[in-house]
Amino acid sequence: MDAQQIRAALPRWRHELHAHAEEGWTEFWTTARVAAILQGLGLSPRVGAEAIDRTARMGLPSAQRLAAARRRAQGEGADEALLHRMGDCTGAVVDIGPQAAPVALALRFDLDALPLTESHSPEHAPAAGGYASRHAGQCHACGHDAHTALGLGLAALLRTGPELRRRVRLLFQPAEEGVRGAAAMLDQVRGIPRFLAVHIGLGLPTGTLATGAVGLMASTKFDAVFSGRAAHAAKAPQQGRDALKGAATALLGLHDLPRYGDGESRIHVGELRGGGARNVVADRAVLRGETRAITCEMADDLFARARDVLEGAAAMYGLGCRISVVGQAPAAASDADLAARLAMLARSLRTEHGKPLFAHVQERVDMGASDDAAVFMRAVQADGGRAAYAILGSSLKAGHHAPNFDLDEACLWPGLLWLEAVCRAIASDDTTA
Ligand SMILES: [Zn+2]
Ligand SMILES: [Zn+2]
Repeated sequence: MDAQQIRAALPRWRHELHAHAEEGWTEFWTTARVAAILQGLGLSPRVGAEAIDRTARMGLPSAQRLAAARRRAQGEGADEALLHRMGDCTGAVVDIGPQAAPVALALRFDLDALPLTESHSPEHAPAAGGYASRHAGQCHACGHDAHTALGLGLAALLRTGPELRRRVRLLFQPAEEGVRGAAAMLDQVRGIPRFLAVHIGLGLPTGTLATGAVGLMASTKFDAVFSGRAAHAAKAPQQGRDALKGAATALLGLHDLPRYGDGESRIHVGELRGGGARNVVADRAVLRGETRAITCEMADDLFARARDVLEGAAAMYGLGCRISVVGQAPAAASDADLAARLAMLARSLRTEHGKPLFAHVQERVDMGASDDAAVFMRAVQADGGRAAYAILGSSLKAGHHAPNFDLDEACLWPGLLWLEAVCRAIASDDTTA
């Protein structure tokens, strides 16, 4: 493929991925498609358990749901040989560059969609353009379809030019939503001196690039299952143990935990289900929530307090309470020196008409959210490497995680040219100092 063909393929790939939106850990069609395109470029991707620690997958759906998603991917024409290699595990990793050379840089592209029903309004471009999600209740409403398309475009561009001096590793990560996937791919960044993740949008308009997000919040996602005892609500309520009351008390108690004076924190319960009949004491309730904080210490403290509230509320009503962590990411910040270099590269790029490729490049931006790219960033930084989280501005029609979320595809080609320049520069360093 030449550059113009890659440029034309970017939105096409994105639309295809968008139409096949798959939630975290069920990205069978997506992984197979990504790997097939990479193979078509003459690369040798590793897929599923070849690249993922199956036992470290957090917030994994049931085996039945995984099997159903895999069958659906099969029915939608996913490559059989690749599906066979993947087994029950999604995700892919590919190295580009000379096999004998060390890996200079790892980049993360996330694959997953959200459990959300996409808008079918004619004003919604994917609906009007015929590429809205064909999977009910699953939707690319965060832009990860664009990230994956960028990863594919990057692989293609790096194959067209001169051979890299050192290797670049592309991680196609499952299950970013709910910060569940990165921990299972941690081995893939060990010993690599540079790491970069990119997210589109996040409040920045098209033409803007921020190369070093700071303030990625530590987050813990948890499920709490309250178990009580059912009883007749009129004849013998004293024999019951009301799981619904315990869960409701916990919900209020969680939101009543104090904020911290020394930095941002968040606590949120997004789902509460329990009971089944008006006249029966509920014997089961499930509460799903999350804590976030700007430092890992605050995050640990907040989650410990949340645990106390959950267990305390359960004790009040004589209930059992099983708490499970279904996703976790640490706090993280981009390294300023790497962010500065990435910004310098971006400022040096020009369009074919000689204009700056980006209208505005900034080195630092406050994230105010979480991303499990933080798992990779912290690991690389702990080994003495440098990591950055960049935001590629894209003027959004509606915000992230909304049913009518839509991005401005004009951001993709400049973003890709920048990513290529980054890879070529870092892979050419004599020493990665
Ligand atoms: Zn998201
Ligand atoms: Zn996202």
